[in-house]
Amino acid sequence: MKYKEFELIGSSYKCDKNCPYCTAKITKWPIVEDKFETLEEKLNYLKKQDITFKYFIFCGNGEPSLLDYKDFETIVNATRKVNIFDEKRLQSSGNIFYETEKLDLIKEDFIVEITRVSLNSEEDMKILGYKRDYINSENFKKAKIRLNYVLMKNKTFDEYLEEIRKYIEKYPNIVTVSLKTLNLNTRKNEIDNPYSKWILENALTKDDADTIIEFMNKNTNFITCDEKFFDRFEWKYKGVPITFYVKKLDYGYSNIVYYGGELVDYHLNKIKLKKEG
Ligand code: SF4
Repeated sequence: MKYKEFELIGSSYKCDKNCPYCTAKITKWPIVEDKFETLEEKLNYLKKQDITFKYFIFCGNGEPSLLDYKDFETIVNATRKVNIFDEKRLQSSGNIFYETEKLDLIKEDFIVEITRVSLNSEEDMKILGYKRDYINSENFKKAKIRLNYVLMKNKTFDEYLEEIRKYIEKYPNIVTVSLKTLNLNTRKNEIDNPYSKWILENALTKDDADTIIEFMNKNTNFITCDEKFFDRFEWKYKGVPITFYVKKLDYGYSNIVYYGGELVDYHLNKIKLKKEG
């Protein structure tokens, strides 16, 4: 059976950025022993159950490229030895572009996923609380990039497209753009923290999905939509695919998370594997 995502989430909470919408800080998962050394065994177990994934996502409650090299390599090697993934991605704060050895290790078979609120680096650094302009670093050019484009309330839809066009022209290694609405809270439906409050005031959320789809359909070339499995629309703009995850399906549908050596869901319950579908 094909699942959507396998997410490897570390529990260090170490990060060089201070995003005002930080999902890790909203959900506050417990700090655990990561046990990355058992990843390969768990992947083999899934393989034996005939499970494959569209995506491997190397992410974290914290910045994955801040892991020590040995752990980083253990994870990457496990995904190579038991490659049950169509595509592999590393989500980064931008720190990976200052970790040349780790970047060189993954740049051929991983896409690096970055998340931005502004093309203007000074503004992006100010809002997301980081100090190095990674997008204009030499190492940035080495990687294939997926840009998570946060839909901010301070811009119009036309301005979004204009800015995306500029990204694509300036950084030709951006292979895909993902329009990103922010999650208010992934565990409880309460606005009980400053991160969720910031999101409500500053960014679009899944409630804006229909407006986003309508605008994109009118102004770009529609490619496909898959509402059943991916919950996703896709368009093409200036030759580059732009995807949008609608988030109407239950959060976590068809995803498996690796956390603390266990295969779990987003509520940290051990997963029950689906055998068909
Ligand atoms: S990069 Fe990720 S972990 Fe770091 S502050 Fe931003 S959202 Fe949180």
